[in-house]
Amino acid sequence: MRKILIAGNWKMNAGPTEAKVLADKMVEIWKGKEFSQEALICPPYVSLPFVVKSFRDSFFKTGAQNVSNEDNGAYTGEISTSMLKELTCSYVILGHSERREYFNETDDFIAKKVLKVLDDNMRPILCVGEKLEDRKANNHQTIVKNQLKVVLDQVDKSHAENFVVAYEPVWAIGTGETASPQQAQDMHEFIRTFIASEWNAETADKVRILYGGSMKPGNAEELLSQSDVDGGLIGGASLKADSFSEIMTIA
Ligand code: PEP
Repeated sequence: MRKILIAGNWKMNAGPTEAKVLADKMVEIWKGKEFSQEALICPPYVSLPFVVKSFRDSFFKTGAQNVSNEDNGAYTGEISTSMLKELTCSYVILGHSERREYFNETDDFIAKKVLKVLDDNMRPILCVGEKLEDRKANNHQTIVKNQLKVVLDQVDKSHAENFVVAYEPVWAIGTGETASPQQAQDMHEFIRTFIASEWNAETADKVRILYGGSMKPGNAEELLSQSDVDGGLIGGASLKADSFSEIMTIA
């Protein structure tokens, strides 16, 4: 049985002061309540220690939005997996469309980072997804398959339980436009079937596939009720403690 993962991506929002207020608010909302699924927040690096501290006695987990594929050394501006682990971070978002688009991250480079994260016993959230022109041209499955294949060719199936995929159609990120529940389910099923063909059905069944793209309280129920949708990667709505908590309650 796959545990639902509700993950917030704060992107380049919420510096230390704001992040602490937001994280404290989330903890306050859930004080004394249990959450049977998994909740994760990925703040900017500089805010991570503050969020970790706010979450210390709660079930909320923390993750990063990127990481280096190198161990340590002369890589100015980079952050390593061991640094994140020291902060008790367990997840890393990788291959987000904004990193692919604005920072020229390629599938090969992303694959190196995914391997590094898995080898260091952390969990990557590998983002894949097509642009609007790809969907209009009916190329969406090919695009997603190619993005996944580069990574799956290098990852051993023994990592299935730690390997998380986020299907994020680029046209739905930060636009207010969401994939319909059927579009999401179709792609998630396609992704799982493809993983099964590369690994096997048993391991593909263990991989969690999140949906990302303007998920909010108003559409979360329909999206999360799809059989192959195992959670959400949430941008905008994760910056509001009430909205994020509402999505958690729906999950
Ligand atoms: C994201 O950035 O991963 C995302 C899904 O953003 P939003 O929810 O704002 O569309």
